[in-house]
Amino acid sequence: MNRRSVLTWLAATPLAGFAGSWLARPAYAKGGKAVEELQNNWKSLLAEGADVAASAEPLKLSRDEWKKRLAPEAFEVLRREGTERAGSSPLDREKRPGVFVCAGCGLPLFSSAMKFDSGTGWPSFFTTIPGAIATSRDFKLILPRTEYHCARCGGHHGHLFDDGPEPTGLRYCNNGVALRFIPKTG
Ligand SMILES: [Zn+2]
Repeated sequence: MNRRSVLTWLAATPLAGFAGSWLARPAYAKGGKAVEELQNNWKSLLAEGADVAASAEPLKLSRDEWKKRLAPEAFEVLRREGTERAGSSPLDREKRPGVFVCAGCGLPLFSSAMKFDSGTGWPSFFTTIPGAIATSRDFKLILPRTEYHCARCGGHHGHLFDDGPEPTGLRYCNNGVALRFIPKTG
């Protein structure tokens, strides 16, 4: 099904209005000052001397280079847009203060202060470190979904939903295997 036929199909269903309003909502619509503070102060949760990417300068590697660099499960998610089994990642239960970085390139994506327990079995966050992720639309389940990926290496991380908690109402549903957690201490 190409994009045009999907759109035509959507327009012909009762869900079209729902999908339209969902897509129209910008990711930064809600949250205000509290979220801005979390975004600006994420480095206060970064361990001293932590091994992270210093900038979002693009990292482009060949498929073979990624294969060598990543564990098979991480390759499947990051480079092939796979999804890990719900509940399989210990990071879903991670509650210590710290920072979650891309397992592919070390770019910091989320702080522990942005995490919440969604009950889905995947690590979930209500906002991100500014500029750390980029989004695209995918139609794999026919209805459009917002896919998101690391702004530096392009590695797939998960999908963005609008049923998250206050203050943003957003849920970044992330594959744990695509993340590396750096605790603030120890
Ligand atoms: Zn990355």
